[in-house]
Amino acid sequence: MSFNDSVLICDEVDKVLEKILKENGLQVTYEPEITPEQIKEKISQFNIVIVRSRTKITKEMIDKAEKCKIIARVGVGLDNIDLDAAKAKNIRVINAVEGAMTAVAELVLGLMFSLARQIPRADRGIRNDQWLKKQMLGTELKGKYLGIVGLGNIGKRLGRLARGLNMNIIGYDVVPIDEEFAKDVGLMKADLDTLLQSSDYISLHVPLLDSTYHLIDAKRLSTMKKTAKIINTSRGGVIDEDALYEALKNGNLGGAALDVFEKEPATGHKLASLDNVILTPHMGAQTKEAQSLAANVIAEKIIQILRGVI
Ligand code: NAD
Repeated sequence: MSFNDSVLICDEVDKVLEKILKENGLQVTYEPEITPEQIKEKISQFNIVIVRSRTKITKEMIDKAEKCKIIARVGVGLDNIDLDAAKAKNIRVINAVEGAMTAVAELVLGLMFSLARQIPRADRGIRNDQWLKKQMLGTELKGKYLGIVGLGNIGKRLGRLARGLNMNIIGYDVVPIDEEFAKDVGLMKADLDTLLQSSDYISLHVPLLDSTYHLIDAKRLSTMKKTAKIINTSRGGVIDEDALYEALKNGNLGGAALDVFEKEPATGHKLASLDNVILTPHMGAQTKEAQSLAANVIAEKIIQILRGVI
């Protein structure tokens, strides 16, 4: 079966996606640098619109998307797509939940090691002709308490990796936690406040929803250990960045590593002025393996929807 639907790819995605869609007869327009204004101008011509995280698909765009049947996100979070507007127009919204699991969990490990041993600061020192050996007395991850908030795909993957480092895993989720996973990692289940008070490292893995916006606010930050370190690779809005800045600056928190921000790109961010902070440019899923997997999953889902299989 061959299809002649038209597809607009708005962000940089793995080439395999375009290849599979073209092999199935679809007409693909690849515009990884397209601007919101340009999308509004041409979205009416396309049956399928594909994005990663750079492009936001707004209600204004969806209102103009006369022929659109599918909006696909080559990744996990759907907070860059106006889901209500898509639903109102009967447009299917799909994502690739599996792709980023290992990539994000491995980045969290990297950030935890970097916080524990101040690797970025040590590197900056040498580049600035400073030998900071005496200031580099770090800690080991072994035996420390890691609190994981949100035990979905990424949270669970992180739990298994961290268990391999002999960390103690504390977990909190709003839905019942996978029992097999809990048993495998010796999970200590806790409510959010207990988790925050008891953990040496806290890693956030929840979606951005009304209920998770500023889930970690000034009040919750104030209950955490003064030496605790928080890592956010979920979505920027989950932490109140101003409150985080104050907590770190005033010595009420040990450190933070952020891969995601309320406003991206986050260049010139005030958190960059603090030494106990590591900032990365929303690169959690930025591995060859994750991008290829997500692109394959999305291509497969699109073909199956067009065939009427799903
Ligand atoms: P998932 O849907 O598999 O898991 C999310 C979990 O969070 C679920 O178990 C859900 O029940 C739980 N949850 C929801 N609200 C909660 C709350 N208030 N308190 C506690 N738990 C709550 O998602 P995932 O694939 O594990 O992704 C997690 C997050 O990572 C998402 O925000 C996603 O957008 C983000 N992400 C970031 C990157 C990156 O590049 N940094 C890449 C992929 C995914």
